[in-house]
Amino acid sequence: MALSLDTIVSLAKRRGFIFQSSEIYGGLNGCWDYGPLGVELLRNIKESWWREMTYRDDIEGLDASILMHPRVWEASGHVQSFSDPMIDNKTSKVRHRADHLIEGEIEKLRKKGRTDRADELQAKLDAAGDPAALFQLILDNEIKDPVSGTSDWTEVRQFNLMFKTHIGPLEETASVVYLRPETAQGIFVNFNNVLQSSRQKIPFGIGQIGKSFRNEINTKNFLFRTREFEQMEMQFFVKPGEDEKWYEYWREQRWNWFRDLGMTMEKLRMKPHAKLAHYAKAAVDIEYEFPFGWGELEGIHNRSDFDLSRHTEYSGKKLEYYEEATKERFVPYVIETAVGASRSTMAFLTDAYREEEVNGETRTVLRFHPKLAPYKLAVLPLINRDGMPEFATKLYHDVQRKFKTFYDTSGAVGRRYRRQDEAGTPFCTTIDGQTLEDGTVTVRDRDSMEQIRIPADGIMGYIQEKIGG
Ligand code: ATP
Repeated sequence: MALSLDTIVSLAKRRGFIFQSSEIYGGLNGCWDYGPLGVELLRNIKESWWREMTYRDDIEGLDASILMHPRVWEASGHVQSFSDPMIDNKTSKVRHRADHLIEGEIEKLRKKGRTDRADELQAKLDAAGDPAALFQLILDNEIKDPVSGTSDWTEVRQFNLMFKTHIGPLEETASVVYLRPETAQGIFVNFNNVLQSSRQKIPFGIGQIGKSFRNEINTKNFLFRTREFEQMEMQFFVKPGEDEKWYEYWREQRWNWFRDLGMTMEKLRMKPHAKLAHYAKAAVDIEYEFPFGWGELEGIHNRSDFDLSRHTEYSGKKLEYYEEATKERFVPYVIETAVGASRSTMAFLTDAYREEEVNGETRTVLRFHPKLAPYKLAVLPLINRDGMPEFATKLYHDVQRKFKTFYDTSGAVGRRYRRQDEAGTPFCTTIDGQTLEDGTVTVRDRDSMEQIRIPADGIMGYIQEKIGG
């Protein structure tokens, strides 16, 4: 049976992965909180990205501030054009993204097998350059509001997605600042600082993980589209002419990151952008097949010299590179990899979910890669006497120093295993009668459910080996 989003949302709440923000006040649209298990999963995803992307010779890390000089967003083009087309239905009062409304219609046509009509509409959508063209498409195709069923539309208007606030006590025009809608600009404006302090040579990159904010028009689909989210971005600066080679390289690296963390490969695809931004030379998305359909997880873009040139123009400070060997001075090209930590959390959570038949019963299991699993080990003492609880708590505290560990004494061991399966804990260890005789414990594997016996003092090595690295 196809997995529904509701199943994931309710498991996420029940097991403490994700809660609605400010739930006791009725929630805040487009904002979510990471509970005890969710925060571990999110941290493990970020840690895996950080190690992979910045623990190498040619990439440096950065943590830039969320609030930046307002001119940054003029230079980047966000003030002028970081907007989505919106349309309101006058009957239901529901606001939609006009392009998403048309995409919904295309999806419907495909489901009805009307592929030609769907392709034709898709081509028109790709060609639609402004709000008026989108509006015309909605009218021509008699697209109705899914809520009210009417075509009682307002016109399509552009809506800037940046959150505005004010710096200092006075709310005046001069004090306007924005919550950053992406982390990339913090990297571009620090290009000279990082270059000079790290003494890197081109090609080299700068990676950053941090919160971004977008006042999205619609925020359905759980963590997929939220108003506050985390991004993991890396900008790789290269010599013009070498950009295509590095674009290919990063496409492959980023694909392999998902593969190596155990993502189901049939649910991943590379999708080149149908329409390129005016500055981009090439752009591709890595998409995942979510319960609601395919959606972008990561974008890999060849941004040419657009960003550094624009910041040079707006700040009056040269952002360029001098190559000793050739005595050449140039503005580097940028290959960007931009992935959502929050969206990845949703993808890894969804991808891990299985319902399996075991001895006539259904077990729910999250088959996370051990590297990503919130708890690595659960310690389950079986007998409450003869020094066994003491042995078990000591083992628990020893392992906890290195790996997040859970201790559970309550209920039959079968039920304790099921609870850990549902939390995605890859290994459970029991302490039993034999432990006191020979110092061994059992280790049960979440996926195969097979058990082995190993010396208790070998458990750290066992987990380390399974996690890899
Ligand atoms: P979309 O087309 O889905 O709005 P985008 O192309 O605007 O995404 P980018 O600006 O390339 O996205 O951002 C890079 C990554 O940041 C995306 O691939 C996604 O994983 C994440 N991201 C962007 N917007 C959101 C959001 N509103 N909520 C959660 N994650 C987001």
